[in-house]
Amino acid sequence: MSEIASRLATVQERLRAAEASAGRPPGSVRILAVSKRHTTAAIRDAYAAGQHAFGENYLQEAVEKQAELADLDVEWHFIGGVQSNKTREVAERFDWVHTIDRAKIARRLSEQRPADQPALNVCLQVNISEEPQKAGCPPADVLALADAVAQLPRLRLRGLMALPAPAETFAEQRRPLARLRELQQMLLEHGHASLDTLSMGMSADLEAAIAEGATIVRIGTAIFGPRA
Ligand SMILES: *Cc1c(COP(=O)(O)O)cnc(C)c1O
Repeated sequence: MSEIASRLATVQERLRAAEASAGRPPGSVRILAVSKRHTTAAIRDAYAAGQHAFGENYLQEAVEKQAELADLDVEWHFIGGVQSNKTREVAERFDWVHTIDRAKIARRLSEQRPADQPALNVCLQVNISEEPQKAGCPPADVLALADAVAQLPRLRLRGLMALPAPAETFAEQRRPLARLRELQQMLLEHGHASLDTLSMGMSADLEAAIAEGATIVRIGTAIFGPRA
């Protein structure tokens, strides 16, 4: 077994254990393997071990990897900041975008999503810890942004994403993740019935995220090792 395959197996065990201790059915959480600054050889190793969803943060790097990996049936997720002059490539090349934090970007992605592809799955990124320097929609603006995105014909609003500030204890990790879940609940109550995704939890806090209802955990280091 490759080193990546064995790390992936360890992450899958953590995930199953966290689902079980949260009383959630096995398979309710899936792994997005975050491959930024890792090689296409590393992606191929993880793919061979059964991992088919990969997340990239930097468009140019992602485009080069996609060309090298065109023989694989990868589900590509964009998890970096979307610049408004780069929306066309994002709209054409990805299955999911996790980082929608303003309506202007969402409108461009919808206009530029090719007609022969299914609607682009999107999550709204929420600045859940309300850190001034961080990307994400303020929690108070999430409903307005969801209302705007839901109108866009070529996007499918799937859920919310957050990158909370690092926290030491399990209880501190859970607090912002619980807030994201509450925001999702609020949107569901406002009729946003297509929301089935909470993209939260990384290598260090995946247990807390699963306890709070994560459906996608975004794992880089625990699968691929430290980034170059
Ligand atoms: C890098 C990154 C991750 C993965 O982080 P690790 O600590 O390596 O698991 C998850 N989400 C986002 C948005 C990232 O940029």
